[in-house]
Amino acid sequence: MDPSKWIDVTVDKNHYSLDHFVIPKHYDQDLSSILIPHGVIMDRVQKLARLIVDENDGPLVVCCILKGGHQYFADLINCIKKLTTTRGHSIPLSLEFIRVKSYQNDQSVDVKISLTENELKDFEGKNLLIVEDIIDTGKTMVALLDRLQTYKPKDIKVTSLLIKKTERSNGYIPHYVGFAIPDAFVVGYALDYNEHFRDLDHICVISDHGKEAYAV
Ligand code: 5GP
Repeated sequence: MDPSKWIDVTVDKNHYSLDHFVIPKHYDQDLSSILIPHGVIMDRVQKLARLIVDENDGPLVVCCILKGGHQYFADLINCIKKLTTTRGHSIPLSLEFIRVKSYQNDQSVDVKISLTENELKDFEGKNLLIVEDIIDTGKTMVALLDRLQTYKPKDIKVTSLLIKKTERSNGYIPHYVGFAIPDAFVVGYALDYNEHFRDLDHICVISDHGKEAYAV
């Protein structure tokens, strides 16, 4: 996707005060600002669903990258289903759930995928849509795509709700991107910090207090 089509929330004035929206009381001191309110996320997901429906017509195997991608995946699937029933253009979907662990070697990143060899072989000849929460350096996604290509899918497209603007980026850009975010650690909308904050609806920047409170 052409970066001019992303919503850029990297500038400071885009941050909302915690007073502007409702956040769970147990996170009162753990966030420094709201970067993307839940309603804006939902509106953006609707648009991404429309792009996906307009640009894909064959059956899709939609792959949720767990755990962070699960909320985006669930909302995206709902929007795609609504669009395909109201627009008379329907795409058969099958759903797959993948846990991906990445390991940094000296020169490259290797990934461990939670699917069995037989499940992976099933991707041969299929159109895959990978649904990820965030691209930071891009290393995990590039390594995952390398691995998946060995199973000879017909096509692989990637959507990530967020892409971080960072000097550490390897230049990887997904096909469908929701928002470009600043180089900060974000939580909420299923993105976690040590398993906390997945129960927060807005995408927020974690505070130093939050980092300390939930450090392991
Ligand atoms: P990459 O290989 O692109 O550097 O890292 C991708 C993974 O790092 C994401 O799937 C996510 O699990 C994690 N990650 C990177 N930045 C953030 C962030 O700001 N917040 C959270 N919660 N996870 C992040």
